Amino acid sequence: MTRAVVWLLLLSLFSLGAQAQAQWLQRSADIMGTRVVIQLWSESVGAGEVAIEAVLEELRRIDRAMSPFRSDSELSRVNQQAAQGAVVISDELYGVLARAQQISELSDGAFDITFASVGHRYDYRRGIRPSEQQLEQLLPMIDYQHLVLTPDPPRLAFARPGVRIDLGGIAKGYAVDRGIAILQQHGIEHALLSAGGDSRFLGDRRGRLWRVGVRDPDDKAGIRALLPLSNTALSTSGDYERFFIQDGERYHHILNPRSGRSAKGLRSVSVLGAEAITTDALSTALFVLGRQAAMALVERLPGIEAVLVDTEGRLHFSSGLGQAGQSAAAALD
Ligand code: ADP
Ligand code: MG
Repeated sequence: MTRAVVWLLLLSLFSLGAQAQAQWLQRSADIMGTRVVIQLWSESVGAGEVAIEAVLEELRRIDRAMSPFRSDSELSRVNQQAAQGAVVISDELYGVLARAQQISELSDGAFDITFASVGHRYDYRRGIRPSEQQLEQLLPMIDYQHLVLTPDPPRLAFARPGVRIDLGGIAKGYAVDRGIAILQQHGIEHALLSAGGDSRFLGDRRGRLWRVGVRDPDDKAGIRALLPLSNTALSTSGDYERFFIQDGERYHHILNPRSGRSAKGLRSVSVLGAEAITTDALSTALFVLGRQAAMALVERLPGIEAVLVDTEGRLHFSSGLGQAGQSAAAALD
């Protein structure tokens, strides 16, 4: 054997050894119109990569079903047909719609997927918003009670023409939950999966907690509070994600279903809870409700905590975070 061949053999053995080693893996991708990040601890690189691919494929599948931007999505089909009569839908869509309706009821209509009839008239990138006349005409189409959801087989009907739904306030949370379930099926015990503002943390960082910052609404790099986390979902809704400013007014993507206009009173809402589908929808709902009603709702819900940032930049922690939240925020000052 030549010396070169011996070296090659040694090198390949070395890299095989490295492949088999347990380590943290990280991957990012753009799916569902947002940045997806996966971090996980895997006993082998190969097995970890397989798990990552399975999660990404699941997120792409959910996007194909629930995207409002694809004319062939299940969501688009429902929007086209449900005003003519009940449409049979998948068990999966039924499950997401049922949870959306539950959050609508809990929040007294602050969360409402029928915001879409007005919502689709906004284009935040191009600075377009509905006229006063359009608002007046479309506002009656917004009401989650226009949705008639029935089981066996799962069906959805719109009670009146002109109703439209959009799952932008809940589908990413659902997708994050599905991704975490897939990681668990692959035997992963320590992971982070985030899709834009919706994240879920599986286990801890191997003996340490995950530490997540609540960002300053006006400064991407600024952190207002640090949350030490494990085994939880975390969703943040902010007025700085998608917006434009016209005549000094900020038009952003969280709409008050009662007015069809951007919700006022808070700058950001972060919600902690067991499942991302719930924290996602709740973060949007609480943003619309405003500080007092938001906190009152959080305090009623077991297993849910929240951090609010108001328009003066002040932080408000729910009682379960209380002391821990205050000291985490103080440590940053
Ligand atoms: P992000 O999409 O940045 O994660 P959120 O979770 O806060 O943000 O959800 C905002 C999205 O939810 C909007 O882009 C829109 O698709 C949808 N949405 C806006 N207002 C409402 C509302 N009142 N109820 C339900 N969904 C809403
Ligand atoms: Mg949300």
